[in-house]
Amino acid sequence: MIKFILNRVSRGVLQRLARWVMPLAGLFYAGRGVQCPLCGARFRRFMSYGYVEVRKNALCPRCLSLERHRLLWLWLEREGKLTEMATGNTKFLHIAPEVCLSRRFEKILPPDSYITADLESPLAKVKMDVQHIPFADGTFDVVFCNHVLEHVANDRLAMCEMHRVMRPGGWGVMLSPVDCARAGTFEDDSAVDPAERTRLFGQYDHRRVYGRDYADRLREAGFRVDEVDFFDTLTPDQQRLHALRREILYMVQNK
Ligand SMILES: [Zn+2]
Repeated sequence: MIKFILNRVSRGVLQRLARWVMPLAGLFYAGRGVQCPLCGARFRRFMSYGYVEVRKNALCPRCLSLERHRLLWLWLEREGKLTEMATGNTKFLHIAPEVCLSRRFEKILPPDSYITADLESPLAKVKMDVQHIPFADGTFDVVFCNHVLEHVANDRLAMCEMHRVMRPGGWGVMLSPVDCARAGTFEDDSAVDPAERTRLFGQYDHRRVYGRDYADRLREAGFRVDEVDFFDTLTPDQQRLHALRREILYMVQNK
C-alpha cells in the first residue's frame, strides 16, 4: 500500500495530504515502544515506508521523520549544533526541506535567517534549481541538502554551487543514498523511462546510484568531508528506541 502510493502520487500532493492523514494514522500506532527525538512522540512502532523495498518501523506518524532524520537530529544535538545555530545568528540554506526538520529549524531560527529552497516543493520559500543557486558567494553559514543529488542531472555542478554559497568555515549536511557495495558511482544518462530508472537506480526519479566514491565527489567540489558513523556510537537500546539504521552521515565543511 505505502509503496503503491509513493510511486504513483506526486511529492507535492503527498506533502499536502500528509498534514491531515498522518495524525489520524498515529492513533493506530499508540504505544510506547519507540520514541521520535524530533517531535518527542512515542508510538508502539513507527509506520512502514519505502519506494521499492518497504522498511518496517521507519516513518514517524507525527512529524514524518525517517531513520536518517532521527540519526542526524541526535548527532546535531550531541555536537551542540542546534544551540550553536540558535545563538550564532546563523544564516541557513535548507534545500528540499524535510518537513520534520524544517519545523524544528523554524522554531530555533528567525525567518530571515532560515531559507528553505526547492524546485517544486510547496514547503519551500525560494523556488530554485540547485544547479544554479540564486545567492551570492559565501552567503550561508550552514547548507543542508539531503537526498537531492541522486535526482539532479549535473550533481557535480550542484555540489560546486553549494560550496560557492557557503562561507569559508561554514558547514553542512549532504546525505545521499550510497551503495557501499559499489566502489564507483553508477550512472547512465540514456535511462529516462521511470520503470527503467527503477530497475537501474532503485527509484523512478533517480539518475544514479552513488558508490563509495560519493565523498570524493563532494571533495572535488572543494569541501572537506567527514564520513561520520554515528550509529555505531549509540547503544543498542538507543538504536532500538529511536528505530535507527546504520547510515553514514556526510558532514561537509568549506575549509
Ligand atoms: Zn516524530
